[in-house]
Amino acid sequence: MELCIDFGGTEIKLAVTDGSRVVATGSIPVLGSPADLPAAAAEARRLLAETDLAETGRTSTGRTETGRTSPDPAETDPAETGRTADAVAIAVPGVVDPRTGRMLHANAKYDFLEDFDLNTWALTEFGVPAVVENDARAALIGETSTGSAAGERDAVLVTLGTGIGTAALIDGTPLRGRTGHAGILGGHLTVDLEGPVCPCGNLGCGEALASTWALPAGTTMTEVFTTDAHPEIRDRFLHVWGAVVTSLVHSYDPAVVILSGGILRAGDAVRAPIEAHVRAHLWPSMTPPRFIVPPEPELSVARGLSILARATTTHTATPQEEQ
Ligand SMILES: [Zn+2]
Repeated sequence: MELCIDFGGTEIKLAVTDGSRVVATGSIPVLGSPADLPAAAAEARRLLAETDLAETGRTSTGRTETGRTSPDPAETDPAETGRTADAVAIAVPGVVDPRTGRMLHANAKYDFLEDFDLNTWALTEFGVPAVVENDARAALIGETSTGSAAGERDAVLVTLGTGIGTAALIDGTPLRGRTGHAGILGGHLTVDLEGPVCPCGNLGCGEALASTWALPAGTTMTEVFTTDAHPEIRDRFLHVWGAVVTSLVHSYDPAVVILSGGILRAGDAVRAPIEAHVRAHLWPSMTPPRFIVPPEPELSVARGLSILARATTTHTATPQEEQ
């Protein structure tokens, strides 16, 4: 069993997986304080205990359904020991140092996690160390291993929403780079030299021009893309996203571009214009990539974390590596 914890923007999503099978899921709201950690651990233990009971018939006191008490002290109360997790993987909205697993830079809500050792935290809470990964990269690993782009070895993922999250897979290997920043800063490519200074420090970033936080006060993304109330904003956002994705395709030469985020549920109103922009502005000798909108985007990160967690225990190749 793998325990997957995704520290997301509005909620902390948890999943217990058994290989590619999602056994149980849960979520708790984000408080944006260190109290998120014990809350996540408690919810994880609850899910593990629930899973353990469902899978083996053991009760939370270590007794079997027949009432026989297990002689092995280690078999007692999974709600306390968390021993049913063979591996733990954690996704965070920030930059993760691939050498240490520590966050080098965190989304504002999780600034308390910066340089915090989640590996040791998992070891203390669940008895096994954790693998820690950037959330967009975990989602990309999930979609290209057991999700909508299964088997693809060259892929780019772009999540549109609160910000612009990106990740790249090249020759079956997730791009991480020297310090973990490679592939994930696609939202901070300059698309307008005359644009605003982004909080990241760069000029005219795609995210500063077209994301939830770039919307005028009182306007929502759903309103922009499901009604005709703001055609100028809609056109500008699509133009920016098209430029960002074109630059990512030029950078990474993917066979598929996976577009994710709640706003993609607005049907073809988002995917089709982005694809058209890329086709219109693509380098002449490039083959246009296939565009995919995952049917189960809520499972992308958990799928990726499950693969990463299993890799720590079995040392088996990921589906991409096997090819
Ligand atoms: Zn920026």
